[in-house]
Amino acid sequence: MRTIGHFIDGVETTGNSAEFQDVFNPATGEVQARVALATEADLDAAVAAAAAAQPKWAATNPQRRARVFFNFVALINRDMQDLAELLSAEHGKTVEDSKGDILRGLEVAEFVAGAPHLLKGEFTDGAGPGIDMYSMRQPVGIGAGITPFNFPAMIPLWMLSPAIAAGNAFILKPSERDPSVPMRLAQLAIEAGLPRGILNVLHGGKAVVDGILHHDQISAVSFVGSTPIARYVYATAASEGKRVQAFGGAKNHMIIMPDADMDKAADALMGAGYGSAGERCMAVSVAVPVGEETADRIVAALKPRIEKLKVGPATDKASEMGPVITRASKDRIAALVESGIAQGATLAVDGRAFSLQGYENGYFVGPSLFDHVTTDMDIYKEEIFGPVLSVVRSKTYEDALRLTMDNPYGNGTAIFTRDGDAARDFAARVNVGMVGINVPVPVPLAYHSFGGWKASAFGDLNQHGTDAIKFWTRTKTVTARWPSGIKDGAEFQMPVMK
Ligand code: NAD
Repeated sequence: MRTIGHFIDGVETTGNSAEFQDVFNPATGEVQARVALATEADLDAAVAAAAAAQPKWAATNPQRRARVFFNFVALINRDMQDLAELLSAEHGKTVEDSKGDILRGLEVAEFVAGAPHLLKGEFTDGAGPGIDMYSMRQPVGIGAGITPFNFPAMIPLWMLSPAIAAGNAFILKPSERDPSVPMRLAQLAIEAGLPRGILNVLHGGKAVVDGILHHDQISAVSFVGSTPIARYVYATAASEGKRVQAFGGAKNHMIIMPDADMDKAADALMGAGYGSAGERCMAVSVAVPVGEETADRIVAALKPRIEKLKVGPATDKASEMGPVITRASKDRIAALVESGIAQGATLAVDGRAFSLQGYENGYFVGPSLFDHVTTDMDIYKEEIFGPVLSVVRSKTYEDALRLTMDNPYGNGTAIFTRDGDAARDFAARVNVGMVGINVPVPVPLAYHSFGGWKASAFGDLNQHGTDAIKFWTRTKTVTARWPSGIKDGAEFQMPVMK
């Protein structure tokens, strides 16, 4: 049995770990590896390695730091196929989808290769007589990132790339359910020329997360995961005086206006609702057709598409959707589908009986479609995080907008329409962080920033884009007066520029 250790000071090690957790293949239900769970001593060792390496890394000029990212990007591209297969084996998503996961993270590593430009400070020449003023952005020191299972490449890369390019050392605590790709990324970073100790990876659950949140040498924490844990991480890290950003769950609505192209809207809902088995924080889980006729048309367009969806293991190239991550997740989704029926929704496509010959022990869930869903039902209130799409029929555009705005989550949303006026109004008024206009999964590119509103994010700076550079750095402002500007005698009033 393969054992996955931590990555401390450039070396893979099980350290002081006495406990291990099984890593499953979600397609077969078999245990394929075991991962070490970090102890307090492992965390201290990772922090010590980070603290020893960070000052020299911070003093390395930004162009040299950026060059490591050029190499890193090339190495990830070199190993793309292997990384994608490894990712699929632990997560279950298709290999093409895994490549997308890696590529969207890789784009952030490409973005931070521009670190010298991104880290430039501000300068005011002659802020007063003989006075210059300048601001610089300095690394926070040691940062930590805690990431979810559903994007084991993209989300670690969102965090570690800007943190490290900005001159910090970094401790990554990836999901213990699919830990192999984060480990490979750390090894590739060393191969790319990153000094040992700058990137460390520790595995585990609540215990090691708590250790990070309370560790006095860790200055900033970035978290992505479910909303209850995001709230907890935000509150705990903030109470320790750390800088913290914490991104949570989602319930993304897609509004379909009567003038939309129904075939294109249905295709979009297929990818956004069932891609990656619905295990995306930007998945569309609620379709909101405006008007009864639109609702009938979209449901009619969806049904044959869902029935044709090819569900299977990632090893089958024809698969369009893989299993969900764990047996517990499969059981939870099944219970939610039962609750939808019991609470009066119409199960327009029933995925409950799905079974795949040869993969009976895998965590496959057939795709389901609910129509006539109402806001009091559990399938509407809960983040299902599975291949279950709910249709909430809406009478008017204003009702659809209000429904989206009243939802406690605010990660992503989309509107499908040919009406520019409606689209513009929607983008301006909706209280959601990422909006798509005829784009079902509006994940911003690396040079813009990613982040939701309401219960989908806690903290005030987003992932990637210039926000990430701000998050992983502190501003220092220097006011310099040269002899020609210095007057004789003491001044007792508050200094003002005259
Ligand atoms: P999760 O909250 O269970 O786990 C996230 C991380 O927190 C993992 O590293 C895990 O080990 C750790 N953790 C788990 N329980 C903990 C506890 N009690 N105390 C401290 N740490 C704990 O999330 P998940 O199931 O891995 O991922 C799915 C969730 O992540 C969904 O809710 C999804 O919407 C969300 N997500 C959000 C975004 C976003 O950008 N907003 C992106 C991806 C995923």
